[in-house]
Amino acid sequence: MAQKIQAVRGMNDILPGESAQWEYLETVLRGLLSDYGYQNIRTPIVEETGLFVRSIGEVTDIVEKEMYTFTDSLNGDSLTLRPEGTAGTLRAVVEHNLLYNATQRLWYLGQMYRHERPQKGRYRQFHQMGVEALGFAGPDIDAELIMLSADLWRRLGIADSVELQINTLGNPAERAAHREALIAYLEGFVEQLDEDGKRRLYTNPLRVLDTKNPALQDICNAAPRLTDYLGEESRAHYEGWKQMLDAVGIRYVENHRLVRGLDYYNHSVFEWVTTELGAQGTVCAGGRYDGLIEQLGGKPASGIGFGMGLERILLLLAARDLLPAAPAVDVYLLQQGEGAAVAALKVSRQLRDAGLSVIQHCGEASFKSQMKKADASGAGFAVIIGEQEVRDGTAQLKSLRRETEQQTVAQDGLASAILALKA
Ligand code: ATP
Ligand code: MG
Repeated sequence: MAQKIQAVRGMNDILPGESAQWEYLETVLRGLLSDYGYQNIRTPIVEETGLFVRSIGEVTDIVEKEMYTFTDSLNGDSLTLRPEGTAGTLRAVVEHNLLYNATQRLWYLGQMYRHERPQKGRYRQFHQMGVEALGFAGPDIDAELIMLSADLWRRLGIADSVELQINTLGNPAERAAHREALIAYLEGFVEQLDEDGKRRLYTNPLRVLDTKNPALQDICNAAPRLTDYLGEESRAHYEGWKQMLDAVGIRYVENHRLVRGLDYYNHSVFEWVTTELGAQGTVCAGGRYDGLIEQLGGKPASGIGFGMGLERILLLLAARDLLPAAPAVDVYLLQQGEGAAVAALKVSRQLRDAGLSVIQHCGEASFKSQMKKADASGAGFAVIIGEQEVRDGTAQLKSLRRETEQQTVAQDGLASAILALKA
């Protein structure tokens, strides 16, 4: 036998037994997004590498060490599998001029790729649903995004499993002033900083605060806070956002060390976190990125968005036993004998046209073994067509869930007979 080829490490198959759970989550998401008036956008999985370097930032985990970057062997271009969805979405918005005299409320859902160490809740291919609201200065839209995500937790039944953490990163000038103070402060602890901390001290000191290293927690907690460097406008934005969250009863925790791993954020940033998934506790994260559209060659425009990891949400739902079982079909159609396969093809199409879902048995097998398959399929009804039924234009109808007599029904009347029994 030839050697088997396996999936790439950290990239998972979603098998038939799990796909119903994904479809359930996607259905809830689509319903929610359409209730909020957001429109779907679908962009390529591969983009020019420069797009991510320019938007996410050179000194970030993603660009420094997590991107799947390769050279297009046909023309030498440097391409990258998208590690997140915002850059590609904004590239498309700018390229197609979608903000010309317009605002946009967009969402996407799809695979993302990061070269990380695979573990529970952390994979090399994973799925994000994200939204981007473009052309709104806020803070009302900032509150809308939080409410949208909060409503998702309510609809999924996990509102009490997640906590909202918020912070503000101010504007670039305020960040610069804070940055100086932060560097000066951290210089006092150079000896204690870990390798990442030392490396980022001058390139991206805000990111030092994001460290999960237990040894650095005290140092980071006592570091200068960005909130102390805010001007009036930034303060008003932050306060306005919080007041709106208060007004709609959404609880939050202010976390002054929440800085996000991507460089493009300013003002409002937030994360929904859970303690139920171990170290991979962030299920949704986002913030405002007012300079990014201009940075990507568009006219200046505000933007805010978030991304959520669907695998982590499914893990949460599974832990709480909130995932639905795969839905079964209405009818399993058994057939055997001369002319039965053709009759069954015609009958199954009639039933489907009437709104019923049908699995038709294909291939030769005894009725006994077909009936076993019908039972295992979870179908509500078995429809049986043998040689006698082919001659008479009838079928046997049997409920698989209720104790009722098997009945002979004309093929033309099958759909209405089943629908009547179903009701
Ligand atoms: P983390 O701190 O867990 O590495 P991050 O800050 O890198 O997260 P973002 O870039 O903000 O994450 O992505 C948004 C969301 O996407 C995360 O909150 C998480 O739910 C999900 N996510 C990110 N990386 C992965 C991954 N490798 N596998 C599965 N989900 C992921
Ligand atoms: Mg990460």
